[in-house]
Amino acid sequence: GPISGLVASLSQLQTGLAAIHRVEEVANLDSEAPQGEPRTAASAGPARVTFDDVTFRYAEDLPYVHHGVTFASSGRGLTALVGPSGAGKTTVFSLIERFYPATTGSVAVDGVDVRDWPLEDLRGIIGYVEQDAPVLDGSLRENLVMAAQDATESEIEEVVKTARLTELVEKLPDGLESRIGYRGTTLSGGERQRVAIARALLRKPRLLLLDEATSQLDAANEASLKQVMLDAAERTNVLVVAHRLSTVTSADQIVVFDAGVVRAVGTHAELVEKDDLYRDLAASQLLTAA
Ligand code: ADP
Ligand code: MG
Repeated sequence: GPISGLVASLSQLQTGLAAIHRVEEVANLDSEAPQGEPRTAASAGPARVTFDDVTFRYAEDLPYVHHGVTFASSGRGLTALVGPSGAGKTTVFSLIERFYPATTGSVAVDGVDVRDWPLEDLRGIIGYVEQDAPVLDGSLRENLVMAAQDATESEIEEVVKTARLTELVEKLPDGLESRIGYRGTTLSGGERQRVAIARALLRKPRLLLLDEATSQLDAANEASLKQVMLDAAERTNVLVVAHRLSTVTSADQIVVFDAGVVRAVGTHAELVEKDDLYRDLAASQLLTAA
């Protein structure tokens, strides 16, 4: 009873603190000297991602996670990364964000190696929705504008619509000003994911990285999530580590990872035809053997 409640609060507090730490990291980027040439092109629109023969290990005494990963995701659309647990899918996102440098090979965003991007600019164009992205204690509005303090009222209204949060806003006692998170109204798993996506979309990312939560969703929430991703993919380049069949069947391109290499690329229909690992994963519904 009370003890398990306390343990739950503590774990939520830790999640919250980790998120605050990450927000602070982003806020402190100014102090980091930009690497390489500053970007001069006034680029806009979806940003391409290119992995060219990337090898990577987290440390010299650890085994390689990527053994020569090559794939590209160009422009608008939805690219799904699938494969067994531990195959290196989430690590792809860490390399795009330059949390770590590739050991050999090149990771490029918009045709420019991530090492040559000023870090603040690179991370500024990316919206990253981590697996189990946290909802913090505070109002729904505060949760949305966390990384986009200058968002206008109409921009907030628009992401609420895009992220299919209208019903939630109407259901909450004080709409956007309602307190959510560990002391406020508890949101369902599907609502939490959509709040995290809305938060990322509010920054108008040129690249959206989405690590799908493995938690089960009911049919209505699963359909909403798919629609939110498809809407986002009309505007920007969306890469999703996918665990749901409904996500991959809607993807423009699926990249199948296995043990640190890309073993196949194609649409759902093509991969069912030509890749036995993909066929097995798809048959199991859960696109990662998590
Ligand atoms: P996936 O998302 O496909 O399940 P990950 O990219 O998370 O796979 O992990 C790939 C491998 O890298 C796994 O063996 C995992 O244990 C390891 N790994 C992930 N993150 C770290 C880290 N921060 N430090 C060391 N090893 C890590
Ligand atoms: Mg992962």
